[in-house]
Amino acid sequence: MQTLDHWRQDFPILKQQVNDEPLVYLDNAATTQKPQQVLDVIEAYYQQDNANVHRGVHTLAERATKSYETAREKVQQFIQAKSTKEILFTRGTTTSLNWVAKSYGDLAVEKGDEIVISYAEHHSNIVPWQQLAKRKGAKLVYIELTDDGYLDLEDAKAKITDQTKIVSLAHVSNVLGGINPIKTLTELAHQHGAVMVVDGAQSTPHMPVNVTELDVDFYAFSGHKMCGPTGIGVLYGKQALLEKMEPVEFGGEMIDFVYPQESTWSELPWKFEAGTPNIAGGIGLGAAIDYLTAIGMDTIHQYEQELVAYVLPKLEAIEGVTIYGPKDPKDHTGVIAFNIEGLHPHDVATALDMEGVAVRAGHHCAQPLLQYLKVPATARASFYFYNTKEDADRLVDAILATKEFFQNGLI
Ligand code: PMP
Repeated sequence: MQTLDHWRQDFPILKQQVNDEPLVYLDNAATTQKPQQVLDVIEAYYQQDNANVHRGVHTLAERATKSYETAREKVQQFIQAKSTKEILFTRGTTTSLNWVAKSYGDLAVEKGDEIVISYAEHHSNIVPWQQLAKRKGAKLVYIELTDDGYLDLEDAKAKITDQTKIVSLAHVSNVLGGINPIKTLTELAHQHGAVMVVDGAQSTPHMPVNVTELDVDFYAFSGHKMCGPTGIGVLYGKQALLEKMEPVEFGGEMIDFVYPQESTWSELPWKFEAGTPNIAGGIGLGAAIDYLTAIGMDTIHQYEQELVAYVLPKLEAIEGVTIYGPKDPKDHTGVIAFNIEGLHPHDVATALDMEGVAVRAGHHCAQPLLQYLKVPATARASFYFYNTKEDADRLVDAILATKEFFQNGLI
């Protein structure tokens, strides 16, 4: 297996001990750690350039604006959008999806129309559509999953019809870890005149994404899941659609002219970005993109698949361990949800923490999926490129120790 160990050295937080053990951070689907390079860029911004953007003519304001808008260009290139007009800065995936549901939803969805999602969605790709469906008297339709944890493509063909106005699916599930065939699904949506919205929160950090090639209409992701800061995210939208849509928030920055009773909007992308933006967040995301690009998204994807191919069989071999989602590493990202027979996942996560291994336990903001799988909660280990084969071994050993402790009272 190739090693990306030298990149790991850039992450100060990973060098600590937790409960007297070297930290193994496996909660990357929740949020990722930040390399020194990103931390330095954010600090330098506040130390040298801090000013509000787009307004001032003084030197600091110009520098801040330049850095912030350069970050937008980096995002554009990273996901291969055609223009920076198609890149809206948001607070994260949740805000991005809410904007589409509100703005495009209000424009395009009418009573009796259908919005198609799947059972494997995060709450932020469910609840905004529920609200839209309620506002409009539309119907929310769910694509089923296959027994082995894939999106059921036959069911998708049956559910996406001429009634469908919006299809919104995760590129990668934050519980099952499987990669959905977004290009095929987008073609299907377009054949029926629907737009394709993609929740890219778990894909963008882990694999190359080309929105132009995928031909998706909207694509949402979060900076904090890809080595960037919290509070910054992206909504990509095709320019022709964004031009037709109304902003969701109103105020300073997004206007062209304000008259006592009427206002006109600024041009794209600023028409959607009301108020002082998260400037340091945008610049930090730009630095994270530089960092990931230097490693290479293909390299990251391939390495994580190798890690999964290494650890999945070891986990599957442990008696009483159930793994949810596709088992073929080539269809899988580094997200592995599991349960240990007879143990509550919260107890599992607490016991693993005692061994210095950080995993998440709970419903992972995907309650309909867990209802569908008929489990109240799972533990979830999620890998990133800075995790090593040794981290994977420590997870396996900690699970074995946890089983031993709960079954025999020994640890
Ligand atoms: N969708 C998926 C698939 C996610 O994993 C997450 C984050 N857990 C979100 C949406 C929401 O992202 P955020 O909290 O950054 O808005």
